[in-house]
Amino acid sequence: MDLHFKGLPQLLKRFPDHESAREYLEQKIWGGTPFCPFCKCDKWYKLGKEGQYKCGNKECHKKYTVTVGTIFHGSHIPLNIWFCAMYIASSHKKGISSHQLAKDLNLTQKSAWFMLHRIREMVRDKKEEKLSGIVEVDETYMARKFHSELKPQNFDYTPSWPNIKEKGCVFGMAQREGKVRIKVFESNNAEKLRASIKKHVKKHSWLITDGSNIYNQGLDGYKREFVIHSTKEYVKGDIYTNNIENFWGLMKRGIYGIYHQVSYKHLQRYCDEFSFRYNSRKIPDNVRFELSLSDIQTRLTYFQLIKNGYKEEEPYQEEKSEWD
Ligand SMILES: [Zn+2]
Repeated sequence: MDLHFKGLPQLLKRFPDHESAREYLEQKIWGGTPFCPFCKCDKWYKLGKEGQYKCGNKECHKKYTVTVGTIFHGSHIPLNIWFCAMYIASSHKKGISSHQLAKDLNLTQKSAWFMLHRIREMVRDKKEEKLSGIVEVDETYMARKFHSELKPQNFDYTPSWPNIKEKGCVFGMAQREGKVRIKVFESNNAEKLRASIKKHVKKHSWLITDGSNIYNQGLDGYKREFVIHSTKEYVKGDIYTNNIENFWGLMKRGIYGIYHQVSYKHLQRYCDEFSFRYNSRKIPDNVRFELSLSDIQTRLTYFQLIKNGYKEEEPYQEEKSEWD
């Protein structure tokens, strides 16, 4: 099922309409044989409309299509247009705004906004294997109010803490030659940030940080090195935090330049989106597109998106075996 295409014209040639994209998904998710998403029964009837099936299990008898329970669930937008949105969102280095996507694909801005959030949920790293080796660790601040306070010549501006209302401490861990893991916290609470390191970085790894006091204690079992940026010290041999700094640069240019403003409630999703692109930076766009498709069985309802405020990740519970 490898997709070989380069750019949008070839993607649209491969999927010229909703039906061709649906058939591709039926192969990808079911291997071509319909499968009831409600009771897992593989007996089925075809219904009048293409792509609609009825469960053959007498106790279930539900109607379904291949999109039930996926990010496409309940959407009236043709699947091939969804594919275009996924391709665009995953290949633009700094992301794409819902306004621009709406124009490009002739959708309403609200539809485009919702699609992009579903795509972010889809590409979120759900396995979260621990980082190891040399891991650069740093924190920065991003929030809605940045936009109005941002001065063009001073793009890396950090507003005075904690005077802004909707703020977010964005905490980043970047494994050398590996992945980044980004987590949003309400504030730069040292204990929470250290707990996040324990949750996401293997013990005995090297932590490279700036001179912040946050990392001075409570991290037994890690080797720590640091560079003191305030004294213009940035690189001491292998001791530098350039990877995570570069990630912040890319993300901030995206947030300010493309999205303009992001509320704290949705900030983690944007972090997930930028992490996905960074973590798949070495693979071609078509492979990245397929990679994102491998996780479509993730549903994010409009209700979840709108009503639920953001909650920080659960604090790390130390597992005995791992710390021995
Ligand atoms: Zn069923």
